[in-house]
Formats: sequence, structure tokens, C-alpha cells
Amino acid sequence: MVSTDLIEILRCPNCVQEGEGNLEFYKETWFICDECGRKYPVVDDIPVMLIDVGDRFIKTAKKDLPIPPPRDVTE
Ligand SMILES: [Zn+2]
Repeated sequence: MVSTDLIEILRCPNCVQEGEGNLEFYKETWFICDECGRKYPVVDDIPVMLIDVGDRFIKTAKKDLPIPPPRDVTE
């Protein structure tokens, strides 16, 4: 589980510099930025908030996101 405190403070590292960077917490396994479309996976209960990783899923539709996210996403 990802703690609710953490969920509330997480922002998209790309968009928070210019705006809000609000994220949608999706199926308890993804954080989705509605501004840039990057999607950040939760791996081993740890949100991977890296722009490079978010980039990989920028074109993946929300409904097509793998659940759970691939474990090798950070490698
Ligand atoms: Zn963003």
C-alpha cells in the first residue's frame, strides 16, 4: 500500500515546476499526470517518480497500462 499522506503530496516532477502537477492515483499502481500525460508506476509500494520512466508510458492509454506495472521499469 502507498500511504495516503504520500499520495497527497506527490506531484508530477515535470509539471510541478510550471504548475500544479496534480496526479491521479489509478488502480493503486499508477500515478497519472493529466497535464503532460506521463504515468508513474508504483513498484514494490514505492512510487517511481522519474520523468524518464513517466516518458515511457506517455502514449499509453490509461486503460492499457499494465497492472501491475512491469518490475523492470527502473532498470
Ligand atoms: Zn506532468
